[in-house]
Amino acid sequence: MKNIRETLHTISSKLPFLRSLKFRIFLLCFVMGLVPAIILSYSILRNYETRVVNVRESDAQTQLRVLANHLILYNYLANPDSEIVNAELAQFSSFYDGRVLVIDGNLKVVKDTYDMSTGKTAVSEDIVNCLLKGSSAATVKYDRQDSYIEVIMPISETASLEDADYSGDQQVQETVHGVLLASVSTETIGTTLDILWRRAELLNIILGLVCFSLSLLLSELLVRPFEKLTAKISAVKAGYTSDPVEVNDYLETEHIVDAFNEVLGRMRALDESRQEFVSNVSHELKTPMTSMKVLADSLLADPNTPPEMYREFLTDIDNEIDRENKIIAELLNLAKMDRRQVPMNISSVNINALLEIIMKRVRPLAQQRDIELTLISERDVTAEVDEVKMTMVFTNLIENAVKYNREHGTVKVTINSDARNFILTVEDTGIGIPEESQGRVFERFYRVDKSRSREVGGTGLGLSITKSAVLLHRGTIDLKSRVGEGSTFTVTIPLSYIPDTAAGH
Ligand code: ADP
Repeated sequence: MKNIRETLHTISSKLPFLRSLKFRIFLLCFVMGLVPAIILSYSILRNYETRVVNVRESDAQTQLRVLANHLILYNYLANPDSEIVNAELAQFSSFYDGRVLVIDGNLKVVKDTYDMSTGKTAVSEDIVNCLLKGSSAATVKYDRQDSYIEVIMPISETASLEDADYSGDQQVQETVHGVLLASVSTETIGTTLDILWRRAELLNIILGLVCFSLSLLLSELLVRPFEKLTAKISAVKAGYTSDPVEVNDYLETEHIVDAFNEVLGRMRALDESRQEFVSNVSHELKTPMTSMKVLADSLLADPNTPPEMYREFLTDIDNEIDRENKIIAELLNLAKMDRRQVPMNISSVNINALLEIIMKRVRPLAQQRDIELTLISERDVTAEVDEVKMTMVFTNLIENAVKYNREHGTVKVTINSDARNFILTVEDTGIGIPEESQGRVFERFYRVDKSRSREVGGTGLGLSITKSAVLLHRGTIDLKSRVGEGSTFTVTIPLSYIPDTAAGH
């Protein structure tokens, strides 16, 4: 089976047209059209032949039975000179274009209409069987090759006997005195059949040609929508058009087109977001540059700038350089996480302890604006995570909760877990995020209030880095917020790390 498949595969790779749908449709139509026609004409002619031969056989049998009766009547076996019978035999012979032998019980040929075997002994199994069987049934054989029918008809006499035990039943006794061996020519049938065969062949050739042309036409027509589809897809590929492709001739082409349009749409969206990202990156990188340029130009413009001014401007330039560096570092971080095969340094991490450390780091920032920072550990949690990435997630969320908080506000960090995940919530009493921005804060460079973000040293990349890191751990991040009341970010991460393949990506 495997070998056959391999052979078929090699053949079809050597002859690519065998794989063509057009060729297959053509072949199917051609074969389906022609083969039944050939089988039909063959079986009709065969049937016709059998019927005609049967009719001839039964005609010959009837005639021979009459002859056999006459032979008995005229006691021909003992007296083969009966002119009436001889005339009848000759008539049969000429009518059926055949030969009749009259053979007596001793296998002697009493009469041969061809006068070739008269007086000779005819020994043949069929004749002996017929004589021995003692029944009036004839044996018939059709020799198709030599175009004749052979009939062996017993010359028998029937006598009625009263039953020996006087029960009144009548018994019929059959006595076979000899046999009639007749060969009947079927040449006329053969000639008629030959003519019919030739006509059938001609008809089949014409039918073959019609089938060929129709199959060719049909295969061309049926495959055309697929060719149309290829042409349209090629046009999109070549960039002549960016309109959605439409080929609704078949349900199948419609499905292909739908799938293609979906891919096209996704690619377009991807392209748009990439373009937007590139323009955002350029803009973000240019802003600190512009500030630096303005600061440097104003210093250069006035040669008498006092040294304090120099100091102040250079500090500003230094801050801008820090900002630029931060953006670049975060972009690199994101780019690394965007790559599918980002290395994950998974280890067992005590999440409560990690949070304590981060809170300690953020606390000075919170104290500047008198923000209360509390950690509520509902459970002791140890999880298999990438510690560096998890630190980034926690730091970003807690820092944001402080940065976008009001003075004297609070930030409540809660850590809890269930059987499968640990859940971290970071709740603040800050400015909140408007409904329409809630879905977008995870986008790169998206900021609700640009100037506020800039003021607090934000780049607009923190939450997208956070989301990427959470997704790499097969976790989820959720946001609930009300403007003026505060925001709650909830992160759910599996306690055991699920590698990429097991996640089905
Ligand atoms: P940024 O560096 O500007 O803070 P992020 O990606 O961390 O960038 O956040 C995107 C934007 O989401 C922020 O600019 C801010 O407008 C909003 N945001 C994030 N966290 C909070 C929060 N806790 N409260 C209110 N707004 C927030």
